[in-house]
Amino acid sequence: MEFSTDLAYAKTLDASDPLRAFRQAFLLPKHGDGDAIYFLGNSLGLQPRSTASAIQAVLDQWSESGVEAFFKGKTPWLDFHSKLTTPLSRIVGCQPHEIVVMNQLSVNLHLMLASFYRPMGKRTKILCEYKAFPSDQYVLHSHVQHRGYDPSETLIEVKPREGEYTIRLEDIVARIEENIEELALVFWGGVNYYTGQVFDMKSITKAAHLAGALAGFDLAHAAGNVSLDLHDWDVDFACWCSYKYLNSGPGAMGAAFIHERFHKDAHLNRLAGWWGNRADTRFQMKPEFDPEADASGWQLSTPSPILYAALLASLQVFEQAGYENLIKKSRGMQAYLHGWIHDILETAPSGSMILLTPDQTEERGSQISLLFPRAGRELFNLMETQGIYADWREPDVIRVAPVPLYNTFEEIHQFGRILKKALMER
Ligand SMILES: *Cc1c(COP(=O)(O)O)cnc(C)c1O
Repeated sequence: MEFSTDLAYAKTLDASDPLRAFRQAFLLPKHGDGDAIYFLGNSLGLQPRSTASAIQAVLDQWSESGVEAFFKGKTPWLDFHSKLTTPLSRIVGCQPHEIVVMNQLSVNLHLMLASFYRPMGKRTKILCEYKAFPSDQYVLHSHVQHRGYDPSETLIEVKPREGEYTIRLEDIVARIEENIEELALVFWGGVNYYTGQVFDMKSITKAAHLAGALAGFDLAHAAGNVSLDLHDWDVDFACWCSYKYLNSGPGAMGAAFIHERFHKDAHLNRLAGWWGNRADTRFQMKPEFDPEADASGWQLSTPSPILYAALLASLQVFEQAGYENLIKKSRGMQAYLHGWIHDILETAPSGSMILLTPDQTEERGSQISLLFPRAGRELFNLMETQGIYADWREPDVIRVAPVPLYNTFEEIHQFGRILKKALMER
């Protein structure tokens, strides 16, 4: 069907959406008597209805059995980790044993850098995105410094070209090739948090490997949002959080992917803790560290079954919906949203709105970022009064991310209609 700004068109899209029932699996924030329009799944995903009872079950097991709950009950806590890796592996595209669920994102980045930033001789440099998420910048900076290198000489940032907002793949590859003898690592985001640009992780990995460097990714805005194939892309490592598109709640556990070729590599540096020791000898309390021969060998501390339960409850919703189906619906929503954006760009006063997110389908996920050179804040306030949850980035950017699990085409219609009207009235 042809794109149309008519409400009837949005309603038709919703009516023919095979995943429309999944909205009922979530608790939606209210606005007045109805549901708010929550377009912030890229910031904090909404709470599945099943989360509270899943957490309660862990609390019950604790109250009934104390420490014995690690070994008995419906889900012995020691077995919990193995229930998470299979559903996660379908989301990021790898083998279950290549995933470890642990800690949180920034912590895991440091742990992965301890293993995979391996400066040798003049091969010390790390290539990264200009204006990556601040935590990633702090992690890279402090980690490099901690290892005795000067961040200003070691970190190479690739910028968008003059007058452009996103970074071209050809420019990333060119910078990799320029530094072919000095590059230790290419560390990149899967999806840029600010522009919503989805990067070609396969090509970046390939270019890094051809240059003799490793390739690692931050998937905070990619996991649960876009199609990923980490193992086949030959990515070396990746980390992500579970509270954005993965709907596992504030402070949810992060996870890391470590390609299986490293699992038994004894030359790799690793910061160790007892939870990374082989499970069958962990409680023998031996002085030597004997790691698990898979990604779980990177664990350090006793994990929280309460947080595991919140993650599993959310992953079960993904399992029921099917990740492929979600991606398909997400593409449909993006196409519809882009239909609106193009309609507005053609009709609103020239220069009143700029789309920062790339237009090419393969370079965008759920999120779009819009720049309003004049009166962006007023527009954002208007959205708020209309019950639309969007994200404001100083000084002039609004980010919205309709997600396939709980958003509707009609909500995108409302957003488009309000935005268009506001811009036309200016
Ligand atoms: C959200 C986000 C983080 C946050 O890290 P935490 O350690 O989970 O607080 C880091 N990096 C990126 C790219 C993010 O999008």
